[in-house]
Amino acid sequence: MTTGIRIARAVVVLEDGGQPVLEEVEVWPPQRGEVLVRIVASGVCASDAHVVNGRSPVAKAPCVLGHEGAGVVEEVGPGVRSVSPGDRVIITLVGPCGECSYCVDAKPWLCNGPDTLRAMTGVMSDGRTRVRLDGKDLFPFMGAGTMAEFSVVRAAQLVKVDPDLPLDQVCLLGCGVVTGTGAALKTARVQPGDAVVVIGCGGVGLNVIQGARLAGATSIIAADTKPDKLELARTLGATHTVDVGSVDLFQQVLSIHPEGVDFAFEVVGIPQLAADSLKLLRRGGTTVLVGSCPPGSVIPVTRENLMMERRIMTTVAGSTSPQLDIPKLIRAYRAGRLQLGELVSSRLLLTDYAQAFAALETGSAARTVLTFSE
Ligand SMILES: [Zn+2]
Ligand SMILES: [Zn+2]
Repeated sequence: MTTGIRIARAVVVLEDGGQPVLEEVEVWPPQRGEVLVRIVASGVCASDAHVVNGRSPVAKAPCVLGHEGAGVVEEVGPGVRSVSPGDRVIITLVGPCGECSYCVDAKPWLCNGPDTLRAMTGVMSDGRTRVRLDGKDLFPFMGAGTMAEFSVVRAAQLVKVDPDLPLDQVCLLGCGVVTGTGAALKTARVQPGDAVVVIGCGGVGLNVIQGARLAGATSIIAADTKPDKLELARTLGATHTVDVGSVDLFQQVLSIHPEGVDFAFEVVGIPQLAADSLKLLRRGGTTVLVGSCPPGSVIPVTRENLMMERRIMTTVAGSTSPQLDIPKLIRAYRAGRLQLGELVSSRLLLTDYAQAFAALETGSAARTVLTFSE
């Protein structure tokens, strides 16, 4: 086992709201409970663009982007028993402490243990990070920082996977897939026969559709402004599509379900749209806010739209318990019930990161995956 400082190329944002740039950074060895991962693939998620646009509620510059990655364990710090060098792992959003009241209540996605909270801002238990540039700490986004050749991550944020799985597909289980499928399966608890509307068919929305299909929803209405995304939505389980660039979403949905639907998923992050989605619900129906509205936004919900036990709720990482739910999703993938390859619209090298962010801005890609030479 080699120990010592490694030099890695990383996509970093050096000041709040700054543009991403590629830098050579120092990655310091893992400490107690930490793991050095050689990253093989990293998805590019809307939350990464939020950092670039200065909209992220958690990230602070200077930071290493990327929070949806997979790779190979290179070195483990003292006390790590869950993984060993050579293991292939997915890096997840949720790294539960196992001890706080939420963890003991089997809701690890709500964990507020001190190390978990620190990791959200990229800081380890000693108050430092393991990535340095010119002697200064860089903060790995969500404690993951996967747009780098190496990252040091808390062992709690890793899920070990079988060696035959394609890392450039299963990396998406780190954020987009668990957030989307979990919003339907775990947060909303969609039931067989339910009718759902999914507003926004990007990397996460397409997975809400897959989650609704896994849950047995029989009417899955996908809404987006991009015809190619609606086509992909059909492949992933949508039973109806609405091109909201040319037709009215409310008229369309209510013509299919005059009483409204059981669940609406807002996966865009527009406060007015989130509020309006309540008008699509049947009595007792629920809107789940999956998209991330800008910090400080007010969602203008009227009393009338909330009447008759309609509800509006949020989701954190699709209410996912990584060690329980990611292996289940992998079994669904192996059984052909969950599609991952179809979600990857393009694979680019780490050095082409700017192209990946441009695709995110224009909404032209379901998911771009950055790959690293293995
Ligand atoms: Zn994400
Ligand atoms: Zn906890």
